[in-house]
Amino acid sequence: MLDFQAILESIQKNATEAPDKGAVATYIPELAHISKDNFGIHLRTSDGKSYGAGDFNKPFSIQSISKVLALSKAMSLIGENIWKRMDVEPSGHPFNQLALLEIENGIPRNPFINSGAIVIADILLSNLENPKEDFLNYVRDLTNDQTIEYNQAVADSEKRTGFKNYAAANLLKSFKNLDNPVNDVLDFYFQQCSLEMTCSQLTKTFSFLANKGTCMLDKVRLTETQAKRINAIMLTCGFYDEAGEFAFEVGLPGKSGVGGGIVALLPDNFTIATWSPGLNKKGNSKLGMLALEAFTTKTKLSIF
Ligand code: GLU
Repeated sequence: MLDFQAILESIQKNATEAPDKGAVATYIPELAHISKDNFGIHLRTSDGKSYGAGDFNKPFSIQSISKVLALSKAMSLIGENIWKRMDVEPSGHPFNQLALLEIENGIPRNPFINSGAIVIADILLSNLENPKEDFLNYVRDLTNDQTIEYNQAVADSEKRTGFKNYAAANLLKSFKNLDNPVNDVLDFYFQQCSLEMTCSQLTKTFSFLANKGTCMLDKVRLTETQAKRINAIMLTCGFYDEAGEFAFEVGLPGKSGVGGGIVALLPDNFTIATWSPGLNKKGNSKLGMLALEAFTTKTKLSIF
């Protein structure tokens, strides 16, 4: 019988003592002052048990992790029509160049690079009555937690400095792959990325993807096929141009964000989330990657 609590605690201890904790993202000014010493890890098993170590109850900026939730909402709204407007191929470029590259004839390479996520934001804007409020409520319902909020200062800070995203959105618009005005789409996209959550909330939110699309509250439901598709895209596209490395070292579908969060899951088994704000050169949380590698190595629990 695996002692999950002891495993998480030993991973946290190693992380705390790590000599190199990576570098915090500074291109979003509001994220630049977050301490690299934060480290949290949380595990939630499909039979309802949960385990945590370190700062797993401290909220942080989930950034690109929100792209998975936006994609799932868009899937529930327009289904397979999404794939007329984007592809599902992994990315071959570093995370800070993705905005402009990888839009071929107006079609972004996948929904998790910024240009793809901007198209998803456009879809949500066209199909939700009150987009910001409705999306927030969707995430709150998935998590069964009404306390989740956007961080307005983070959204505003990105609105002032997200020049590459403006460039990408304009390019998409020139190819007629945005139906709404560029500023409206980006206003929603930056808001979505500013969601703040804890590791413990994230393991709850993502349970529906480990549970064939059904969330605990049963208010939000994807089909089994839709959940399978999202897990496949997380496995192949969830870590910028380091998705291969994550599959190789960790072996779970997952998604990272530049706020230093990572969430990953083993279908029918568990969801796990880590937060450590220092990033490696590829833009993924340095200690988060190492922690998840240690977890799947120690427990031998992975999709492979
Ligand atoms: N809001 C960030 C951006 O668009 C998200 C980046 C990320 O987490 O990968 O640059």
